Amino acid sequence: MTDRLAIFGNPVQHSKSPQIYHRFAEQAGIDLTYERIEAPLDGFHEAFMAFRASGARGGNITAPFKLDAYAASTKRMREAEIAGACNTYKFVGDDILVQNTDGIGLVNDIQQNLNVPLEGKRILILGAGGAVRGCLAPFLDQKPGTLTIANRTLSRADDLAARFAGFGKIEAVGLDGLDGRRFDVVLNATSAALSGQSLALPASIFREAVLAYDLNYGKGKTPFLKSAEANSSARLADGVGMLAEQAVEAFAWWYGTRPDSRAVIEMLTVPLV
Ligand code: NAP
Repeated sequence: MTDRLAIFGNPVQHSKSPQIYHRFAEQAGIDLTYERIEAPLDGFHEAFMAFRASGARGGNITAPFKLDAYAASTKRMREAEIAGACNTYKFVGDDILVQNTDGIGLVNDIQQNLNVPLEGKRILILGAGGAVRGCLAPFLDQKPGTLTIANRTLSRADDLAARFAGFGKIEAVGLDGLDGRRFDVVLNATSAALSGQSLALPASIFREAVLAYDLNYGKGKTPFLKSAEANSSARLADGVGMLAEQAVEAFAWWYGTRPDSRAVIEMLTVPLV
């Protein structure tokens, strides 16, 4: 029987998930269909329950429904529970299980694909939205030297730092509190580029960096990556590897088999020029 999976979001037509999971399914010899479902902004719950009632197996969740799906779940895996948000779900019997694979995917991309160990490193994450929330525990699990979150709205960064304080050393600052600060790994997890805006960042944050990583992907060299390039010799990466690796984790959680991410990364990479 063909498994039915779907990603819920609004908007969702941009999602690469169907391409990714169809490729993984080919590799694993699994018969599945994977679709995009654009639920109305005020109608996630009904759409999600209708999908479940159709006999579906599971899928993914993207903005703005990561908290709604978490609220609809009956069992939460550790990473989802800690983040209070999910990007992956499965229907098992009467249960709706949820997981958050964003952070594990990002950490695996950095450490395994890009060969940059995070232990002992001074890490800066720009942004304090849903993606950052999912990434903090997996980052702190790697025992970085310091973990700093900087956000335009300082109170959101403060809230996250307080929520994750029990997992390791973490500090919150405003974007205007970065002058003169130096880091080894700098990540852009803001959506500024989506609205064509660039961040006003001090050059110091890149000067000693070994890696500048933009979670945004498929856009070539973003203003963030250009700024890193101009101010450091850091390796530049976008979020295509994170996208592939969070999908590997989701697929392994559904099917108990880990697909190889390389073909997907190759298929979706837009050169950083
Ligand atoms: P989100 O929850 O909407 O959070 C957006 C963040 O960006 C907030 O911290 C917001 O700051 C900040 N921001 C937006 N515009 C800004 C501006 N002009 N100047 C400074 N800060 C600005 O989004 P999200 O879900 O965390 O996603 C963040 C980015 O990561 C998105 O672009 C998304 O595409 C990408 N992402 C990639 C992957 C992947 O697999 N590669 C996975 C997840 C997300 P305020 O709090 O001040 O509003």
